[in-house]
Amino acid sequence: MSLLLHICCAPCSVACIGELRQEGLEPVGYWFNPNIHPYTEYRMRRNTLVDYAKSIGLKLNLNDEYGLRPFVQAVAADIDHRCGVCYAMRMQETARYAAEQGFDSFTSTLFISPYQNHELLKKAAEEAARAYGVTFVYRDFRPFFRQGQDEARALGLYMQKYCGCIFSEEDRYLAAKRRKKAQREAEAARQAQEAAAKGQ
Ligand code: SF4
Repeated sequence: MSLLLHICCAPCSVACIGELRQEGLEPVGYWFNPNIHPYTEYRMRRNTLVDYAKSIGLKLNLNDEYGLRPFVQAVAADIDHRCGVCYAMRMQETARYAAEQGFDSFTSTLFISPYQNHELLKKAAEEAARAYGVTFVYRDFRPFFRQGQDEARALGLYMQKYCGCIFSEEDRYLAAKRRKKAQREAEAARQAQEAAAKGQ
């Protein structure tokens, strides 16, 4: 069976490729991630994957589109529910390319991430498979996430700090800000308690 593996980033690909190879499947990688912004981040993730693929003898095809504008236009109407659109964009293109290039099937390294909406992603892949008449090979790679990330770290691969789009970068920034605020408030409460205890 010929299998096209959509790859979101090198660290997520480590365990997925390992598991597929253990099953006797030799995937061909496919890079198509117009959701990754800004360009410096996109380039870093792409180049890390190119180097990693070479190091493990993985055939990799690049659809090298830095898609800031089309991506933002596609999700702008509902930024809070953007992930479904993002999954559909990537799964539709992967299925289209698989059909065009004569692959029997496709899947994605996104199925390893416990941070993705797994069921929504699965639905997007199933719809894409139907639209292009190729088989979607479903694998729940999530149990291998930690092991894969540890391996990637040990290999010195670039490890990203956010999902990909500029809005997920904003989420990370806002979460860090909330954490700092909560820490400041907890510290202020502790000091107030201490002062009250001394005053008794
Ligand atoms: S958070 Fe991740 S999955 Fe969701 S839209 Fe952004 S890049 Fe895509």
